[in-house]
This record gives sequence, structure tokens and C-alpha cells, in this order.
Amino acid sequence: MGSKSSTKYIFVTGGVTSSLGKGIISASLGKLLQGRGFSVTIQKLDPYINIDPGTLNPYEHGECYVTDDGAETDLELGHYERFLNITTSQDNNVTTGRIYHNVITKERRGDYLGKTVQVIPHITDEIKRNFFKLGETGKYDIVITEIGGCVGDIESLPFIEAVRQAKQDLGPHNFVSIHLTLIPYLEAAGELKTKPTQHSVKQLQEEGIQTDILVCRSSYPLPMEIRKKLALFCNVQLNSVIEALDAKTIYDVPILMSKEKLAERVLTILKLPKSQPDLEDWKNFLGRLKNPTEEINIAVVGKYVELPDAYKSIAESFIHAGAANETKVNVKWISSETVDNKNAERLLKSFDGVLVAPGFGERGIEGKISAIQYVREHNIPFLGICLGMQCAVIEFSRNVLGLKGAASTEINTKTKHPVIDLMEDQKKVTAKGGTMRLGAYDCDVKKGSKTHHAYGKLHISERHRHRYEFNNVYKKQLQKAGMVASGINPKSGLVEIIELEDHPWFIGTQFHPELKSTVQNPHPLFVSFVKGALAFKKGKRN
Ligand code: GLN
Repeated sequence: MGSKSSTKYIFVTGGVTSSLGKGIISASLGKLLQGRGFSVTIQKLDPYINIDPGTLNPYEHGECYVTDDGAETDLELGHYERFLNITTSQDNNVTTGRIYHNVITKERRGDYLGKTVQVIPHITDEIKRNFFKLGETGKYDIVITEIGGCVGDIESLPFIEAVRQAKQDLGPHNFVSIHLTLIPYLEAAGELKTKPTQHSVKQLQEEGIQTDILVCRSSYPLPMEIRKKLALFCNVQLNSVIEALDAKTIYDVPILMSKEKLAERVLTILKLPKSQPDLEDWKNFLGRLKNPTEEINIAVVGKYVELPDAYKSIAESFIHAGAANETKVNVKWISSETVDNKNAERLLKSFDGVLVAPGFGERGIEGKISAIQYVREHNIPFLGICLGMQCAVIEFSRNVLGLKGAASTEINTKTKHPVIDLMEDQKKVTAKGGTMRLGAYDCDVKKGSKTHHAYGKLHISERHRHRYEFNNVYKKQLQKAGMVASGINPKSGLVEIIELEDHPWFIGTQFHPELKSTVQNPHPLFVSFVKGALAFKKGKRN
């Protein structure tokens, strides 16, 4: 088995510890290659057994990132899209669970009749099929594959074995292996230590792979003697020892990697032409990010605030939108469970804007509703995303329409006023994995609305991940009282966006705008929300 196209493959593994930033290194390398005119995509293979991260608690795995085609994927795909301004798909994230599911489905179908189905070759063949799938579309010059987890983990063994085989299949100059590792600094000895890296590289060698490039995470610059030692003991060229210093922002990493000539090393091994990358736009973005002329404070009210990774894309969208407005956006995460009608003013009055976050289940719902009542009544700019939008509808129904006990049937199945409810086709669904309304749906924006003003266009497509919907039975009443349906799904008639007539900036979206914000294309709703917050702040001053 092997890739028939001329695509080149880069494999990124990690050692010593998890959370070293393989995703950011992969995305940065992708950016540097893309900046030289190569067409690049990045995929992640995850060694866990869930079919996808859709059923994982955000505390376990951070945000679940949804692609246009409705795949629930690892949050690293968000970085790939944000850095490269590309769209990814189901094919960009494959887990052990999916690999085994595919192999077992084939076994039941009889594809292996007469054979014992084994890890090698059946599982490794299936892994390799997924390594090469995107490359074989012919759309990419280079495919970067990030292998999740750590070298030495039991569960990553079949993946590393498949990488070893892939190198054989691909032949020379089509394959690069990058190993990301940690160089710890021992305070007491005043020294950077290379031993954990030596062991990790050795482990990788035992599993059949000699790394070509060593990327070393470190809090301090690597002196020449450390680089030489690493090159000698890890069997790599001296200029293939790449220093990856801790960065102030992840968006500095492409520039740091460019200085260390990571892409040059890759291109040398792949025998591809080495030109200078065009990083003009990226540098302009960094310039705006680092030299803000204004500053605003935004509160994000959500349920999983202890773990910022749970709302990764929201945090990144504020960075993009802040840079677009040359504004520093300070985000404060507020636990929805701590908010109520009595303390909402104290907790929220100092902010220039409030975002109420997506979420599932009952916990923290009433806090979100209290926060929304306060910002609605005090003209504080508000953006509600998914559950945040649903809570805005509930709040308005209860406090403006006077519909006592109005609720979502997710929280109260017996409510007299199910202003947010399940659609008929969702009522029959019992399985939890992959059964929500997922992926990109078209939306028509109401002409002349605030939403229209923010987007600057009338037809949009945005990504969804939810079961419950705005209940159209209440649409007329809500509109009459000033909550306008400013975005409608043209096929189903479902309300996808609401806004308030008598409020300077109050928009709720059933979809997740944060999943489409990139460095190159900051999301228009976030850009407009930051503008709204700036205007609100100026109004306070005058
Ligand atoms: N729990 C809500 C639903 O399923 C909202 C989901 C979300 O915020 N992503 O409809």
C-alpha cells in the first residue's frame, strides 16, 4: 500500500509529556509551507477509543470542534483552520475507535473471509489508508499528520508502526518525521536537561522510526553545546535541532519557527524548492495584535470556565476580532452558576460586552438568564451563542412577554411555554453520538437588520451543534415585542439568529460563529461585537 499521488507526507509525534503543542507546531509549519505556495492540509490521528470526541465532556478533552461536513473533532483542527484559513472535514480527524469500527465493519461484511484479523496488517493498513486519504484526492502538495498522545503509550503503538510502514511505502524524499519533545530546565542545577529527549527518541527508534527533525520545547534558548549534544545522541543533523521557545501568543510560533528554519529543513529532506515565505499578512496581523490603540473588557458567562480550552474557539475569535479593531480584548470567564438576579449588576456592570456561551444541560442555565436580563435592560452589548441564544429567547419570553415559566424542553419537559423545543425528527433519536444538528447550514439574513449590518451580506453559512431549536409557535409574539428573527434557514424555516430592536447590540445565534473565525478572516459577528463594545465604552466615558 502506498500513496500513488505526488503528495509529500510529514508526520509529527510527541514525546516526554503531552500538551507540548504539536498542533500549534504542525499549524505553524503548515503556515510556513503554505506561505511558499504549497497547498497544505493537516490531519490528526487520535489514539483514544471514542469514535469521535463528540460525547466527551469538555473537561476531558476541551472544546469539540465541528467542521462544515458535521464532524465532531479534536480542538486542534480549530488551530489548523485558524492558522491556514482552510476548511477541514471528517477525514482530518480519525481515532482508534473509528479505525477499529471500520475494520470490524469490514470483517462482518466478509471482506477478510478466511483470514485472522490482526493489528498488523489489518489495523495498520486501515490507519495508513487514513494517512493517505486526503493526499490521494490530489488536492494537496503536502499533508501533515499529527499523531495524538505520547510516544511510548500502549495505545499509540499501532499508529507509530503505521508511520514506520508509511515511510517504507512512500520511499525517499516523500516522508519526514518530526518529533516534538521537552527540554526541562533544572532550577537547582541551573541547567537544561537533554536526557528525557534522548529517551524519547530512543523509544521512537525502538518502534522503528528515526526522527529526521527534533523540535525542542524549552523555556530558555538552547545553547550550541546543547544542540550539539542533542544532534549527537539523537542521531539528527545539527540544523535539524529546532528550538521552540515558549511564546507570548500562539500566533508568534510561525515566526519563531521561521527563524529556526523548520520549513527549510523539511523542504531539504523532501527535495522541494526553497523560496522565501510570504508572511506579510501574518506579520500585519501580529502588528495589529501587539499594538492595540483601545482596550475593552468582555465577560464570557459559561459553565466550563475553569478550563479555557473548553471555549478555545471563542477565545481565539476575540483575538482575531480584537486585532481587526486594533483593540485589546480582555476576556473574563464567569461561571454561570455564580450569577443570579441579585448579583448580576455587581458581577457585570464593569464590562463593555457580555457573551453567553454554548452548553448542555440544566446546570448554570438560570445564571445565564439572569446575566442576559441585566445586559438587556442596561444596553450592554450581548452576543449569545447556541445555548446563549436559547437563553436570550427564554429570558425575553419570561420577562418581556410575561410567559411565566417559559423554558427549553431540554431543561423542563413539562413547561407550559416551550419556547425552545425539539423538532419532530429529533424526538425519535435516542443515541447520543453524532446525532445533533451538526455542520454547516445556509441562513438568510434579514435585510436592514443589525445582523445584516454586521455581516455585510444576506446569505451566510454557519456551523451548528445542537438538538433544540427556536419554537416558531412563539415567533410572531416575540417579533411583535421587539425580538426579531434576523436569520432564517431557507429550507427548514428554523430561526437561526435573533436580535433586539431596542438595544444597541444584542444578537443571539443558534450556530457557532466562533468555529469559522480565522486569522485571515476574523468572524464578522465578533468584529462587530467588539466594535459595539468599543462604542458602549465610549458612551460610558462621555
Ligand atoms: N443544549 C442546547 C441544544 O442541544 C445548546 C447546544 C449548544 O450550546 N451547543 O440545543
